[in-house]
Amino acid sequence: MNDKLNAYRDKRDFDKTREPAGDEGASRGGRRFVIQKHDASLLHYDFRLEIDGVLVSWAVPRGLSTDPSVRRLAIRTEDHPLDYIDFEGVIPEGEYGAGAVLVWDTGSYRNLRADKGPHSVGMEDALEDGLIKVWLEGEKLRGGYALKRTDDGEQSRWLAIKMKDDAADARRNPVSTEPESVLTGRSLDDIADESAND
Ligand code: MN
Repeated sequence: MNDKLNAYRDKRDFDKTREPAGDEGASRGGRRFVIQKHDASLLHYDFRLEIDGVLVSWAVPRGLSTDPSVRRLAIRTEDHPLDYIDFEGVIPEGEYGAGAVLVWDTGSYRNLRADKGPHSVGMEDALEDGLIKVWLEGEKLRGGYALKRTDDGEQSRWLAIKMKDDAADARRNPVSTEPESVLTGRSLDDIADESAND
């Protein structure tokens, strides 16, 4: 059991929700990310990066942009287990985070702060520093993204900004033009309806 997941487990009753309990354990040493669209009391996008055996997580109310002139608020939330990475379904009413969840984008990422020779910074230190720079290789999102912490505390506030590179595109708006799951092609309504029927 990973102690980093205590906050995650404390919020949930695994007899009631189908979310993973996170008792799988060891990391496969990968560097994966996921963005889950979550129709909770307020619709938001959960951005999660695999760091040291857990999915370090932020709730991004408006989702990530492909436009480098846009800054999106990202609120740090509790670390999630690695097997949450492909979770889609409905968190039942009355449970923490109740509502439908779909995998809006997923893929691998690279730590851009580790490419700096003698000034190389690992992901754990970048998280601690409050400055993360990653290259995403997703289906909808690609290229560099910076996450910058703007205050401290358990639910710290960060800004998520598209870096200027060949994947930056002020005309795209995948949050509105590509709303479906990259895993199943389903919408949030499809997922809610299927769950109501089983
Ligand atoms: Mn959420």
